[in-house]
Amino acid sequence: AAERKDHSVSTIVTDAPSGLFQDEYGLFIDGAWVGSASGRTIPLTNPATGAHLAKIQAGNAADVSAAVAAAKAAFPRWARSRLEERQEILLEIARRLKARTADFARMESANNGKTIVEATIHDLPEAIGQFEYFSGSVYALHGETRDYPDLIGLTHREPLGVVAQIIPWNVPLLMASMKLAPALAAGNTVVLKPAETVCLTVLELIREIADLLPPGVVNVVTGYGQDVGEALVAHPDVRKVAFTGSTATARKIIEYAARNIIPQTMELGGKSASIVCASADLDEAARMAALSTVFNKGEVCMAGSRVFVERSVHDAFLERFVREVEAVRIGDPSHPETRLGAMSSRQQYEKVQGYFDVALSDGAEIALGGGVAHVPDLPDGLFLKPTILAGVRNDMRVAQEEIFGPVTSVIAWDDEAAMLGEVNDSRYGLAGAVWSNDIRQAHRIAREMQTGVVWVNTYYNLPRGMPVGGYKQSGFGRELSWDILRDYTHTKSVVIPL
Ligand code: NAD
Repeated sequence: AAERKDHSVSTIVTDAPSGLFQDEYGLFIDGAWVGSASGRTIPLTNPATGAHLAKIQAGNAADVSAAVAAAKAAFPRWARSRLEERQEILLEIARRLKARTADFARMESANNGKTIVEATIHDLPEAIGQFEYFSGSVYALHGETRDYPDLIGLTHREPLGVVAQIIPWNVPLLMASMKLAPALAAGNTVVLKPAETVCLTVLELIREIADLLPPGVVNVVTGYGQDVGEALVAHPDVRKVAFTGSTATARKIIEYAARNIIPQTMELGGKSASIVCASADLDEAARMAALSTVFNKGEVCMAGSRVFVERSVHDAFLERFVREVEAVRIGDPSHPETRLGAMSSRQQYEKVQGYFDVALSDGAEIALGGGVAHVPDLPDGLFLKPTILAGVRNDMRVAQEEIFGPVTSVIAWDDEAAMLGEVNDSRYGLAGAVWSNDIRQAHRIAREMQTGVVWVNTYYNLPRGMPVGGYKQSGFGRELSWDILRDYTHTKSVVIPL
């Protein structure tokens, strides 16, 4: 790839936006910002520049206990709050986010490394949409009457109590929104633990909306997973855990949750397949495969990181795919023309690089990219070239393991049934796509795919309210839709003989 053109964008804004956020954030417990009992802090940095952004608290078990106690005390009043009040609070959160879209987009870009364009046209509207959507659900959430000849049966939907929510660093504001909105709409109180590397917008969201929420309804404990996570999930007063992140961490959380037998929803990793059939619109399929490769630097659980291409169109597709990805501009995430920003953390940057050697030693070819991208003026930035691996077999590590970077594997196929066997030969089952202009083939393949989402001739297309969640080790529970409200409520049956 050395001879390829340099598509990096020169830098016009190199530093973190100043004045938008604080130098240091406390924990948010019982409506107040407090220091951690640990006395320690963690720095947040800008992965595109290496610049220091702010300090957050390294919370511990004592902080978790205080936060859970506050949430428990706030629960009875919040559980019985008027529906109008809950709805108005959720709508007001949406309004305030909307009014500060540009600020939040800049902060998300600065802390995560994603492009300002993505933060502005994706993360912010989707986060706002969660509060708008679930504000309506306060009325939609209700029990049922069941009629019997000699008695009446009623079901009530009751909130669970204190809910623990643990979220990752790839889309932090949206993750916080998709967790908080349904939990609050259903009348629960929350202790939220954001990721320790990227959480500036989560803390700023809380600062922006703190006056709207009765103390204790939402509490935030920042810190390392092992210090905060176990104490939170295993706390005897926590009634549910909602987690998004890696399958390895999910396994630990499920063990902690087993101690008090609390329910869980898990949104975990993926290795989603995009299936390109001979009849497909190859230009469009290549364009969307390129989008999936670079969108949020590939740090997306639903990334279409395996592309299965019917052999008769394999070369034509690969040529288009390479051309599309080659044209992607890498560089300063705050530049409006940048399409591929910086990896979120050094750990992620190094982990993804490790897969380039893995790919070569397993016998794959690097059709494009496969290394570090040097961006003029940003020598400390964590930039990688977007990478297309060709000649991949589904049993190679790059086709089985979640890379979580701008790396897509292309796999050729001949026989539809054999190809579907390989597509489903994955420990994951989150999403996928089929590209075909044969309607019967498209439906046939969609039906066979063992994934929670299947797109037909599109990708990353999620109209509000469509449920998202995994099969197999991609997790359980369906978020982004009212389906998740079941997981935030008990059903109580009341029986009245006549
Ligand atoms: P992670 O699962 O470790 O982190 C997610 C959250 O869990 C963070 O808030 C973290 O602090 C917390 N956590 C970590 N250990 C914990 C513990 N023992 N108890 C409770 N909470 C704990 O993810 P990571 O290590 O930052 O990323 C590793 C890989 O996970 C990535 O490379 C990617 O494959 C995957 N990932 C997937 C998603 C997704 O959206 N599905 C998001 C982030 C990461």
